[in-house]
Amino acid sequence: MEKVDISNYKDIWVYAEQRQGKLSPVVIELLGEGRKLADVKGIKLNAILVGNDVGHLVDELYSYGAETVYFCQDSKLENYTTDGYSKVVCDAINEFKPEIFLIGATHIGRDMAPRIASRLNTGLTADCTKLEIDEEDGKIKQTRPAFGGNIMATIICPENRPQMSTVRPGVMDKAIKNPDHKGELVKVNLDLKASDIRTEVKEIIKSEKDLVSLTDAEVIVSGGIGLGTQEGFKLIEQLAEKLNGVVGSSRAAVDAGWIDHSHQVGQTGTTVKPKLYIACGISGAIQHLAGMSDSDTIVAINKNPDAPIFQVADYGLVGDLYDIIPQIIEELENIEG
Ligand SMILES: Cc1cc2nc3c(=O)[nH]c(=O)nc-3n(C[C@H](O)[C@H](O)[C@H](O)COP(=O)(O)OP(=O)(O)OC[C@H]3O[C@@H](n4cnc5c(N)ncnc54)[C@H](O)[C@@H]3O)c2cc1C
Repeated sequence: MEKVDISNYKDIWVYAEQRQGKLSPVVIELLGEGRKLADVKGIKLNAILVGNDVGHLVDELYSYGAETVYFCQDSKLENYTTDGYSKVVCDAINEFKPEIFLIGATHIGRDMAPRIASRLNTGLTADCTKLEIDEEDGKIKQTRPAFGGNIMATIICPENRPQMSTVRPGVMDKAIKNPDHKGELVKVNLDLKASDIRTEVKEIIKSEKDLVSLTDAEVIVSGGIGLGTQEGFKLIEQLAEKLNGVVGSSRAAVDAGWIDHSHQVGQTGTTVKPKLYIACGISGAIQHLAGMSDSDTIVAINKNPDAPIFQVADYGLVGDLYDIIPQIIEELENIEG
């Protein structure tokens, strides 16, 4: 593989994913994390924004701490396409040479990042849950769960640039908004022909999935196989509704066909950090814990006192969830009344 002169590369770039003119929430998390990394290294935190008619997002990116926004604007970039977006991002990276490039591990990020990494002949670590700067050599240490979450692998990219990571949504702390913070705009000169884009977007259909916002929820009530039947989720819904929360689930409940995957919490589902997480009939397998153990307060309801979920729970209720949950709902109604 061709060697690059790594001293030519500087700054951290965050890919400012947007859909229909709205920033993806993960961008704010990447800017939060990017700020920390940039401060440790004493380098700049920048963002790259790609799209058509999305100029209104530039100020928003500044307000979350971006110092320079590289802006790729073109009517051909109205909708996300792998080849169109990858091309302009690769061209911008080749021109401006960021040292570190962070992308949210969303569907778009997971699609685009490997395409960019292979075009640039550089390393990519997918789905990172922790990023750190090595104090000795200033390289980025990228940690991600591997082998079904049983080990955490820390990966470095010593000789190629940029060092690229996709980062799991919901894991990093959000950047704090400061509407007074202003940055610099760099309009990237694009070399994009219609023939560069081989995909034609016919229609964008919003699925029900978008309505489940586990990452933003302050309260999540999750159900597992311990519910015994799909009907059990009605009880979970009732409790979630009382607490203004959303319904989560274990993978086993998804595999059983009781609930859609968009509700799944865990390593192969969504990572969540709500104020309150209530796990009902969930054993607490490592892959489930990987997605929720950073919640502020965890309540577990399980009839097995030895269930591993109790090891991470702040409050544990041992018993049948069909006895316990209706009592909680009743108490909440008493408080309301
Ligand atoms: C590569 C890989 C990725 C995975 N990713 C995920 C993931 O993202 N998310 C995830 O959740 N799992 C994931 N899993 C699966 C995970 O290993 C577990 O199988 C799963 O989390 C178990 O779900 P559960 O807790 O609902 O079921 P179980 O482990 O069967 O636990 C059910 C629990 O309910 C309790 N219970 C039963 N009846 C009642 C009752 N009436 N009242 C109260 N408690 C009751 C039982 O005591 C038990 O503890 C993954 C596995 C692999 C290999």
